[in-house]
Amino acid sequence: MKRVLVTGGAGFLGSHLCERLLGEGHEVLCVDNFYTGTKQNIAHLLANPYFELVRHDVTFPLYVEVDEIYNLACPASPVHYQFDPVQTLKTSVHGAINMLGLAKRTKAKIFQASTSEVYGDPEVHPQPESYWGKVNPIGVRSCYDEGKRCAETLFFDYHRQHGLLIKVARIFNTYGPRMHPDDGRVVSNFIVQALKGEDITIYGEGQQTRSFCYVDDLIEGFVRLMSSADDVTGPVNLGNPGEFTIRQLAERVLALTGSNSKLIFKPLPQDDPRQRQPNITLARDLLDWEPKVMLDQGLDKTIAYFDNLLSGDGAPHK
Ligand code: NAD
Ligand code: UDP
Ligand code: UDP
Repeated sequence: MKRVLVTGGAGFLGSHLCERLLGEGHEVLCVDNFYTGTKQNIAHLLANPYFELVRHDVTFPLYVEVDEIYNLACPASPVHYQFDPVQTLKTSVHGAINMLGLAKRTKAKIFQASTSEVYGDPEVHPQPESYWGKVNPIGVRSCYDEGKRCAETLFFDYHRQHGLLIKVARIFNTYGPRMHPDDGRVVSNFIVQALKGEDITIYGEGQQTRSFCYVDDLIEGFVRLMSSADDVTGPVNLGNPGEFTIRQLAERVLALTGSNSKLIFKPLPQDDPRQRQPNITLARDLLDWEPKVMLDQGLDKTIAYFDNLLSGDGAPHK
């Protein structure tokens, strides 16, 4: 049994990770400031004696004793990370420094939830880890993109300078139950709109692409990366290579919900990447990992979750 710290543990991905780690018999310390996460996401874990919840902002130092750290704290939806961009940058940069300082003192292995956003609006397609990216340093997305890039730099400098054991995952668009209904990202927006019979808001013409990974597949990748050989530092892409246009996604959601919602078109946000697809050769080779859940299957499970949540008669967490 290990003592594992999960920052951002009350968020979408963090709550699934906490659950998975408890299921493997570990003790889990969930740290979250509830900026975008909720207590409901982890309500079903609170009775577990091996689960502990601490309200804390990772931009401030944290002194605890742990064996492993998963650093997930950071708003991930453009709407939320652009609401208070300075706090977003502090969370990525000061949060990384504090968690790396903690890892250095406790000799804990530390995992960073990095992102496909480090590739920006990519000129190489699909994106391998060796691609350095095309990121605007001063745009509205930069607080997130550059914050995550700086966090990667810090991880590799602590690794080289202080010998820390690091694991850096570059996560591509992931969806599933426990996304917040007001999260603002495309999958939850479209499903909630379809279920409520509201217009489906496509930004731009909907020809931009994303590759959508179901949450269970992603968490399996996290755990495999954390337990990989010490010399596997990453960065490793984790995502589903199945690539869809946003319009295709809207059509799948309409078909699977049976909704009569109309597609409407809104302006494309600034610096919105035109295409994105992970090259996951490295994850296949190093972790023997690849996603198993196809888009329709994952959407079905996510739709069932939101259907329950919106009708108010289901347990919110599953
Ligand atoms: P989320 O917004 O649901 O979760 C983020 C969590 O971090 C929330 O619980 C929030 O309250 C917490 N948090 C934010 N700032 C904090 C702070 N200063 N101190 C403590 N807690 C703080 O988002 P998510 O989708 O679960 O994303 C989790 C991580 O994975 C993020 O770091 C995100 O950048 C990364 N990521 C996610 C995706 C994806 O598609 N879901 C893709 C790439 C990267
Ligand atoms: N830190 C922390 N918890 C710890 C150890 C350190 O939050 O258990 C923070 C500490 O506040 C510091 C940061 O991590 O600002 C970086 O720590 P490091 O030891 O690398 O730097 P230093 O303390 O030498 O500035
Ligand atoms: N998007 C959309 N309608 C929405 C929300 C998002 O068309 O209601 C688009 C958005 O412009 C982007 C894609 O869907 O091109 C994915 O957006 P999301 O915010 O989910 O993630 P990211 O842009 O960070 O990949």
